[in-house]
Amino acid sequence: MKIIYIDNNATTKVADEVIQEMLPFLGELYGNPSSTYGFAKQVDKKIKQARQRVADLINAEPKEIIFTSCGTESDNTAIYSAIKAFPEKKHIITSSVEHPAISKVCTYLEKTKGYEITFVPVNKKGLLDLDLLYSSISNNTALISLMWANNETGVLFPIKEIAEKAREKGILFHTDAVQAAGKVAIDVKKVSIDMLSISGHKFHAPKGVGALYVKKGFKISSLLIGGSQENGQRGGTENTASIIGLGKACEIARKELPIMNNKVRKLRDYLESQLLEKISGSSVNGDLDKRLSNTLSIGFDGVRAESILSLLDKKKICASSGSACTSECVKISHVLMAMKTPFKSGAGTIRFSLSRYNTKKEIDYIITTMIAVIQKLRKKEY
Ligand code: PLP
Repeated sequence: MKIIYIDNNATTKVADEVIQEMLPFLGELYGNPSSTYGFAKQVDKKIKQARQRVADLINAEPKEIIFTSCGTESDNTAIYSAIKAFPEKKHIITSSVEHPAISKVCTYLEKTKGYEITFVPVNKKGLLDLDLLYSSISNNTALISLMWANNETGVLFPIKEIAEKAREKGILFHTDAVQAAGKVAIDVKKVSIDMLSISGHKFHAPKGVGALYVKKGFKISSLLIGGSQENGQRGGTENTASIIGLGKACEIARKELPIMNNKVRKLRDYLESQLLEKISGSSVNGDLDKRLSNTLSIGFDGVRAESILSLLDKKKICASSGSACTSECVKISHVLMAMKTPFKSGAGTIRFSLSRYNTKKEIDYIITTMIAVIQKLRKKEY
């Protein structure tokens, strides 16, 4: 039986076209792009093309793209660069629902380096408290870092508006666009962003490659000090095949954005409406409109997500939960906690995240399976 993969916010299948583009650079074209002979120059040329393709996805200049090892490195570098650029400023604004690649660094700075961190809260729909955000800006603020799209609920923050405010106040603005890139249109010429993080494996490039957009004029402080790669901004011989794969994935994502917003959205909406209709005690987490078109976070009262996932796994369906199960208790995720999601639905929350590869047939199978699974568990767990 074929795997039904509906966990695309965790990672995605590498697209066949991406694999084809990468293969020669894992095989015969193994030159180091920094070498000066013709054999290596072919690799350098492909890296340049990849940089252009990544830039095109967000309407940036190729010089503004720095390749990194993952979204986490991009996020960490953005924070590190901001605090290095403004050592006298000791305040960072972020949100209560960020990925640990941002929130753990902020907590570390708070606990060990005397930084004040404002974790802006969200409401029940996962939307930011903008009044609190704006009123917390001060002369001491070094950085505002907010995610474009939430990985658990898909909720979108009003990045354009916040970035504009940051620009007016002269404060650096970074966005973690790891879940947004390839899923929503991003134009850095229209949105005043200083740094933006991307991760390849979230949109059909391989794992272990990412990028950081850095607006012309700002100099980052890399976590890796070494050779003069990435225009002297990040040391380390390039992960050539993966960078080339990331470039191809960006090219495809740009072309296929309308598919994301039509076909994928229709399938997600169908899944959502069927589950809500056919399973009582079910509710969607997050704002219904300001949301990624591929994500559905849905809670089922009175059942444990771990039990649902385990039965889904037996039916070869891969999804994820909004909670973690420890030996003592069920802990709902920090995102659902921040949204004050009631425990009874939070503990039974499943995240379905689609990609352009999902089909109507798969969604129908998931719906039928989910109805049977929840029925079975409710009989047992009540
Ligand atoms: N930021 C967000 C919103 C994410 O969802 C993830 C990964 O799940 C990351 C950052 C980290 O990206 P990576 O896995 O490439 O380190």
